[in-house]
Amino acid sequence: MDKRQHHEALRLLPGVDEVLGDRRVEGLLRDFPRLVVKEGIRAVLAAERRRIMEDGYPDGEQLSEQVFLDSVVEKTVALVRLETRARLRPVLNATGVVLHTNLGRALLSAKARAAMDNIAAGYSNLELDLTTGGRGSRHDLLESLLTTLTGAEGALVVNNNAAAVLLALHTMAAGREVVVSRGQLVEIGGSFRIPEVMAQSGARLVEVGATNKTHPADYRQAIRQDTALLLHVHTSNYRIVGFTKEVTIEELVSVGREFSLPVMTDLGSGSILDLSLYGMPSEPTVPQAVAAGADIVTFSGDKLLGGPQAGIILGKNSYLEQMKKNPLMRALRVDKLTIAALEATLQTYLDLDKAREELPTLAMLTADREYLAEKARRLADLLENALGGKARVAVQDDVSLVGGGALPTAELPTKVVEIQTDLLAEGELHRRLHQGEPAILGRLRGGVLVLDVRTLRDDDLFTVAQRIGKVMV
Ligand SMILES: *Cc1c(COP(=O)(O)O)cnc(C)c1O
Repeated sequence: MDKRQHHEALRLLPGVDEVLGDRRVEGLLRDFPRLVVKEGIRAVLAAERRRIMEDGYPDGEQLSEQVFLDSVVEKTVALVRLETRARLRPVLNATGVVLHTNLGRALLSAKARAAMDNIAAGYSNLELDLTTGGRGSRHDLLESLLTTLTGAEGALVVNNNAAAVLLALHTMAAGREVVVSRGQLVEIGGSFRIPEVMAQSGARLVEVGATNKTHPADYRQAIRQDTALLLHVHTSNYRIVGFTKEVTIEELVSVGREFSLPVMTDLGSGSILDLSLYGMPSEPTVPQAVAAGADIVTFSGDKLLGGPQAGIILGKNSYLEQMKKNPLMRALRVDKLTIAALEATLQTYLDLDKAREELPTLAMLTADREYLAEKARRLADLLENALGGKARVAVQDDVSLVGGGALPTAELPTKVVEIQTDLLAEGELHRRLHQGEPAILGRLRGGVLVLDVRTLRDDDLFTVAQRIGKVMV
C-alpha cells in the first residue's frame, strides 16, 4: 500500500459524532454515560488509524465508508461492554478445590448473604448499645455466640487470621521472646510466614527442637526471663510424616503452667465441626483447642468455618482486653458486613446438622458419593446435548482437595466429567472457558478438560454445559 492509499483509507474512517449517531450505538448509550461511549469510539478509531498506517489494507480489499463505519461500530460496542465489565467477576469453580484461595475461599450461606444485604442497605447498631442508648462496641456483637460455640472465656474478631496472629503477638510479646517449634515455622502463601509476622509484631522468635521432632523439654530449656509466650502453630498446609514428634497443645499448656507463661495456638483453618466424622483426617477442632487450655486460639473465618474473611481470636478476657486497647486494633478491625455474615454463619453452627447442610463449604466437603455421581451424570447429559458429538464426554472417578491451606493430605473421592475434543488445540477449551462470561475454571490433564462437580452448585451445571457448547462452535 502506498502513501496515497493510506491517505484514502484514513479519509474513509467515520468521525466520532457519526458513530455516536449510529442506530446500533443506541443500546450502548442507554447503558453507559455518553462520555464512556465517546472514549470507546476514540480508542477504536485510534487503533484503526494505527492499523492502516502499519499494516495497510491488502490489495483488492473493499474499501468504503460503510465498511469502515460497520467495523468501528462493531468494535466500539464490543470494547465498551468489555471495558466496563466489573473487574471482580464470578467464576464457576470446577476444580474440586473447595477452599480455593485464588477463587475467594468459602462461599457464604444464603443466611449470611441475606444478613449482609440487610445491614448494607441501612444503618445499624454497629457501635450503639440499643438497651442503654449509649456507645456500644462492635467487638461485643459476636462474642457471646463465639463463646457459646467454642467454650472460650472471651472472643474478638479482626480482619483475617494473619491480623489475629499479628495483634496477639504484638499485644502479648512485643520486645520479648516467643518460643516456637522449628517444625511449625509455617508459610501460608503470599508473604505470611510465622518468622516474618513475628518480626513485624516486635516479638523475638526463639526456635526450638528439630524440623521433625520437638519435645516438651525443648521448650523448657528455652524459657528465660524474657520469655513472654509459648506459641503452637497448626501446620495446616503441610504434614511432617515418618520419624516425628510434635508437642500437643495439652503438653505445651502444661509446660506453660509450670512457668506461668501463656500459651497460644494458631489453628489456621480451625473447624468447629469434627470433620473426621465425615472421613477426613483428624485435626484439633476449635472447641478441643480451647478445652486443651490454650490461653489464646486464633483461626480464619473463611477457611473450614465457611464464613467471610475474618480472623477470630478466642481466649482469656484479660488478654483480649489488652488486645482491644492495642492501637493496632483500629487498623485491623472488621467492618459491619463481615460482622453480619459471620454472625449468621456462627448462628447456623448452633445446630451442627443444619450447618453441614446450609454452609456451602461443609456441604461440599461432606457431599456423599451417590449425590456426586448423580450430579456428574446430570452434567454429562447436559454436555452431550450441548455438544452434539463435537467432543467426547465421560464420567470418571477422581479426588478433590480441601484447599485453602487446610487438610493438605485429605483426598476426597469425587466424580468428574472429562471432555476431550480434536476440534480445538490442546488447552484451548480451558483457555476460552476462563476468559468468557461467566468464567469457568476446570482442571487440565494432558489434553483433557476435567470438571469436578463437587465445587459446582446445582444451578451452575446448565450454565457450564451451555457455555461449553457455545465456545466449541
Ligand atoms: C491460613 C492461615 C493463616 C492466615 O489466615 P488468613 O485468614 O488467610 O489471614 C495463619 N496461620 C495459619 C496456620 C493458617 O493456616
